[in-house]
Amino acid sequence: MKRALQIISIQHELAMSIGNGLDLDEMLHSFIRVSIARLDLSSAHLFLYRDDSGEPVHIVGQANSDKLVHYLSIPLRFLGKPWAENKVLADIVKRHFESNEFSSVVHIDGKFYQSFSIPGHGVIVFESITEIELTIQKSLQPILKKFSLSCYACLAHQSLAKEMAARRLAENTIAHQAAHDELTQLYNRRTLTENLKKSIAYCLENNKFGALIFIDLNQFKSINDVMGHDVGDKILKEVADRLISITRGKDTVARFGGDEFIILLPDLGEYEQVAEQIVNRTAIRILDIIEGPFSIGDLVYNLSCSMGYEIFPVANSSSCDVIKHADLAMYEAKMLRQRVAIRYAESMSEKLNMRSVYVAELKNALKNNEFVLYYQPQYDFEHQIIGAEALLRWNNPKRLQESPDVYIPIAEDSELILAIGDWVLHESCRQLKILQEAGLPDSFKKLSINVSAKQLGQENFFENICRAIKTSGVNAGQMTIEITENILISRIQDAMNLITQLNDIGVDCAIDDFGTGYSSLTYLRRLPSNLIKIDRNFVRDIHKDEENRSIAKMIIALGENLDMDILAEGVESQEELQCLKDLGCTQYQGFYFSHPLPFDQFVALAKSRYLEAS
Ligand code: C2E
Ligand code: MG
Ligand code: MG
Repeated sequence: MKRALQIISIQHELAMSIGNGLDLDEMLHSFIRVSIARLDLSSAHLFLYRDDSGEPVHIVGQANSDKLVHYLSIPLRFLGKPWAENKVLADIVKRHFESNEFSSVVHIDGKFYQSFSIPGHGVIVFESITEIELTIQKSLQPILKKFSLSCYACLAHQSLAKEMAARRLAENTIAHQAAHDELTQLYNRRTLTENLKKSIAYCLENNKFGALIFIDLNQFKSINDVMGHDVGDKILKEVADRLISITRGKDTVARFGGDEFIILLPDLGEYEQVAEQIVNRTAIRILDIIEGPFSIGDLVYNLSCSMGYEIFPVANSSSCDVIKHADLAMYEAKMLRQRVAIRYAESMSEKLNMRSVYVAELKNALKNNEFVLYYQPQYDFEHQIIGAEALLRWNNPKRLQESPDVYIPIAEDSELILAIGDWVLHESCRQLKILQEAGLPDSFKKLSINVSAKQLGQENFFENICRAIKTSGVNAGQMTIEITENILISRIQDAMNLITQLNDIGVDCAIDDFGTGYSSLTYLRRLPSNLIKIDRNFVRDIHKDEENRSIAKMIIALGENLDMDILAEGVESQEELQCLKDLGCTQYQGFYFSHPLPFDQFVALAKSRYLEAS
């Protein structure tokens, strides 16, 4: 009776230890500890089946003994060595596995090793000085079956928990991706718009003000184009981190697009003036961090930015309007090259409307053939005509005096520039043909044509030039394409390709407005360009202006080194001309010689020069 009670008590305690919790490790430890105590063991060892990744598994059907691996022993070590390295034990387990029996016993060195199968999971080995009684051994069979079930339940639970964690992680990742910009991990446009909507509603309800600051990096495209997207991406990430560092948790910092960032300040209190002060203080901090040097690799980059903002709520303005307003204000700041944030004003929208009217007028001008080309002659050291530059004019009483500097950038913003550029190309070739046939003086070498950034990026631009040359039948050797230094740097690869192709057919290339950009010497050396045109800003008052004189001197020296000709633009006086001659510049263009002239007048002038020269 006493014996029966003892067995029931052992069974009960072992069963309790396996019913506990669903953590496999915890359950196994608890079961083995109770086994050792209740069965009077000196040690106990567990060998479990594992999958290829080493995780315990439940195996249905016949298992492979290689899958059986030492999992746990208590005590942990034997004579200072881990049980996993114990050959005797490993051998016992192997033999038990091969015997296919539920239990087996071996007696080695005065110790009994009693092994039991845990169906579907492995083998457990009990080590004791005395053999476990047969009745107790038998009573262990149902317990170990239950133990096996418990192992299975733990594994199933763990894999479910793992799957749920993985799913939760995937859901979180998807939610994060939907709300964030991939590169910078800032909020994206969508989240910004949602937060802005909430913030506008909150301000309306609570009579408060909020603000949205639109930030655009200046000249970022040049860095991207010249240094590559890797550098560009690193700078954008750094900008993002810096913006986060100066904002508070409730602000929304978002990347709106390429190099555009937005900061939403959702609650700036009840007074508009105070809100405005906070925005201005924030803008100063933004400027500070953006203008701080960026070290990427071995190089240091300096950036600047333009900022515009809008304070909300504004009557009848949606979240889209607020963003549009801040964007327009930013654009204004960029145009005015302001280093402070500019607040949106209604006049900016009016300007935008005027711009669209302007674009419509430009379209009509093209359709109604209102464009003409004027020609400004270029001269050499002996005042012989050496060429001319074709300059666009809008033959409309309202616009004739307007410089293309005004409407070319507007046309650039729309695709119109391509059609205008194409017209310029064909018209200049047509007129060059007339000039060639009229008999140009020998000194006349080249007609220059200006091209815009968009044209340079046009896929078939080179083919367009070839077509214009072919249709007009001009001598390609008498053509030069002018690319401003700024466009050249921002589209260096396009420019290099084009210039090389043009050179092959005999067309030259000039770098226009030189000195206003930041060309690197490395690029200049590689450019197969023949002429550098000193920007007229450095020619103005050159005889009096020390700084201009030294810049011009440097450009002339650069030209000599790179074997390029130098032409000075905007020469207006005898003094300027003399000074340029003294500095070694041998080609000139400017009002001192002639204003740009309508074609007929230019032909007459070119011919008279021819007569003079002969
Ligand atoms: P640019 O290529 O640097 O052309 C020279 C500009 O300087 C012309 O202005 C010319 O009239 C002006 N200029 C010439 N001599 C003097 C002078 O002595 N003093 C002063 N103050 N100015 C002088 P314009 O015709 O107003 O053209 C302005 C810019 O518009 C051009 O600068 C060029 O970048 C662009 N442009 C002109 N025509 C075209 C064209 O057909 N296509 C493209 N893409 N751009 C053009
Ligand atoms: Mg030019
Ligand atoms: Mg120029």
